[in-house]
Amino acid sequence: MKKIKRFGKFDLLLDLKQQGISDIKVLNIIEHIDRSLFIDTNLKEKSNLNVALPIDCGQTISQPLIVAHMTQTLDINKKMRVLEIGTGSGYQSIVLSKLSRFVYTIERHNMLLKKAKNLLQSLEINNVFFKHADGGLGWSDQAPFDRIIVTASAPEIPTKLLSQLVDNGIMVIPVGEDNDNQVLKKIIKKGDSFIVKNIMNVRFVPLLEGKVEY
Ligand code: SAH
Repeated sequence: MKKIKRFGKFDLLLDLKQQGISDIKVLNIIEHIDRSLFIDTNLKEKSNLNVALPIDCGQTISQPLIVAHMTQTLDINKKMRVLEIGTGSGYQSIVLSKLSRFVYTIERHNMLLKKAKNLLQSLEINNVFFKHADGGLGWSDQAPFDRIIVTASAPEIPTKLLSQLVDNGIMVIPVGEDNDNQVLKKIIKKGDSFIVKNIMNVRFVPLLEGKVEY
């Protein structure tokens, strides 16, 4: 019988490097965080695969390559405050927490938010603040933010979020109406104008309005 080779952390890191991830800090963080903690029991053996996987509430934990690209593009340092829209499993939140001063993360599904909050607390992550709300509105009490990351796809760049970014701040967001036509964009705020760059084609769940109580 042919033995199937397990795809381990080493294979994942090699794959990320080959696909353009060069930021050593980002690679180190991915190496040291156990992604299986953020994934359901029946899928844990797939945690090192470079693929998105289903989580509760019909959502997904992003592909490690996309997490790495978005994080690398944000160019974060330890003095920065980061707003994340779409907590999901909390995996991207913990990656951000290792690079920044504070992370403010918003999720519309209360169930996902509570699960991610408990998990990060059990891992003794103390610089992430959680909010159950419609992230499209941002977090005005805590604005402005040095960086904003949106991990769900919007039909267009939400102006409300742009208004919560500092001058020279960076936002990364997938933009596109349907599943097949989304582009990850990097937006840099320069006074009253914005520089927009396309990073890569992506496939995210949609950014939806309102919040879900359960
Ligand atoms: N960053 C997550 C990816 C989760 S998928 C991870 O690493 O696991 C995207 C998430 O965005 C989903 O959980 C979805 O419920 C959430 N979402 C979609 N629209 C939202 C909105 N308007 N406000 C907050 N969260 C939203």
